[in-house]
Amino acid sequence: MPGAKKNPILNRPVTPDQINQLLAALPRKEYQRLLPHLEPVELAFGAVLYEPHARIRHVYFPETCLVSLLTSVDENRVAEVGLVGFEGMVGVPVALGIATSPFLAVVQGAGRALRMKTADLNREFAASATLQRELYCFTHLLMTQVAQTAACNRFHVVTQRMARWLLMTRDRVNSSEFRITQEFLARMLGVRRVGITEAAGSLQRRKLIRYSRGTLTILDPKGLSAAACGCYQIVKDSYDHAHDHA
Ligand SMILES: [Zn+2]
Repeated sequence: MPGAKKNPILNRPVTPDQINQLLAALPRKEYQRLLPHLEPVELAFGAVLYEPHARIRHVYFPETCLVSLLTSVDENRVAEVGLVGFEGMVGVPVALGIATSPFLAVVQGAGRALRMKTADLNREFAASATLQRELYCFTHLLMTQVAQTAACNRFHVVTQRMARWLLMTRDRVNSSEFRITQEFLARMLGVRRVGITEAAGSLQRRKLIRYSRGTLTILDPKGLSAAACGCYQIVKDSYDHAHDHA
């Protein structure tokens, strides 16, 4: 696909092996059956996939893109409650028989995804026990993430939350370097911009990150994990061990 060579938020070319993990977990035969219904799309930064409570027409399996799920508390303020990258699917309500999304879903990292019409997913979902298991498992993980994020926003300080967010983003875009603005981070974390400036300054002084001309680089992932609240590890553990008891 033209223009697919470089991901705008990453300072590196797209790696062809960054395929969607949920689809990759399906047996080959099942995956082949889905293939004709999966349409490759390039999603631009800021693109709105779902408005809250609007009908879901497509579900998305991210490959190199990253999608934020946001919820609003009033007319002017939103906060991010979930992040979905190549480990999952955007549009889990469909798997639960719900036709609308409670969240605003916005592309936070431009890149590639595979999309499928809701009607096609419904039909394939009904026919495949494996797809059901994968989607239920992912829905459970997303619920874990959303719940942890809610508690995190209530109890943890901005620096810890910012460190958590950077690590979660890194895990989902598979890169330690991404383009980001302070305004954007402030919006995602639901804090004032000055709070982000202070938190970024503190992480930079500790040489955990470098932030220059809109590009953020994670210099010391271990140190950044130590600076993050425990919420990062709690959610990561649940994702890492999701299939242990399946
Ligand atoms: Zn936390």
